[in-house]
Amino acid sequence: LNVNFIDAPKIPNVTWADVGGLDDVKRDVIDTIQLPLNHTDNNANKTTPTGILLFGPPGTGKTLMAKAIANECSLNFLSVKGPELLNMYVGQSEENIREVFRKARQSSPCVIFFDELDSLAPNRGRTADSGGVMDRVVSQLLAELDGTTKSTDLFVIGATNRPDLIDPALLRPGRFDKMLYLGVDSSRETQLKIINALTNKFQIEDRGCLQRIVDKCPRQMTGADFYALCSDALISATRRIISKIEAGQATLDVHADVVVTEDDFNEAL
Ligand code: ATP
Repeated sequence: LNVNFIDAPKIPNVTWADVGGLDDVKRDVIDTIQLPLNHTDNNANKTTPTGILLFGPPGTGKTLMAKAIANECSLNFLSVKGPELLNMYVGQSEENIREVFRKARQSSPCVIFFDELDSLAPNRGRTADSGGVMDRVVSQLLAELDGTTKSTDLFVIGATNRPDLIDPALLRPGRFDKMLYLGVDSSRETQLKIINALTNKFQIEDRGCLQRIVDKCPRQMTGADFYALCSDALISATRRIISKIEAGQATLDVHADVVVTEDDFNEAL
């Protein structure tokens, strides 16, 4: 089997506090997934959806959101990228899918996160592959999903930039039946929430500078762009400390001393 790449599923350490903005999506998840999950015992009729599909442009926090859902619902997290499961040998791709679900059941309560779901489940009507490998992969995925419908402790989340490419059979009730859109929100208020979430573990000289930085940012920045901005600011602050250490003006206690300044953010910007 070539599924050795799967890490042992565990609860991720991403919480709602690490997700900036996306308030509507969070509320929806809390109402339809978190609350029912936390209040459904295994014998009760299942009221939560089997799966959700997060869709939207790259870098808008789909992976981050999936991890936060797992954390907030106390579910182990098993992450696979669609293309990783595809294999040139006859029957191996289907076996990989079976193995992923097997592993998830062993680790239940568990969520399986299928990143790039479109590559795994392309619309069968659109491909010239009738009866071919992709056809069998989609069928296997449907069979596994249908097998999870009755289970309260296995849950699937898919992510894609191209929901239009996904086989509609995957989106029927009992499968990825709840679709949530994650977009780029260009309001300054949301941008500030994102930068605050990304820096919640930083030491910042003056948190008030974040508003001034956000006001200078392009409107179309995604969460991933803000992540790059904050990492660069942290690197800039770290470099400053390292130069001080090299000049004999500071000790080696880098973690205690890395304080990010407005200049660091400006340089990163
Ligand atoms: P892709 O479609 O390219 O896989 P994605 O939508 O899954 O992208 P993520 O991988 O979740 O995006 O985002 C990349 C990084 O950007 C995250 O690890 C996180 O650090 C940051 N990020 C994205 N959105 C947000 C957000 N709303 N709040 C805080 N950080 C965010």
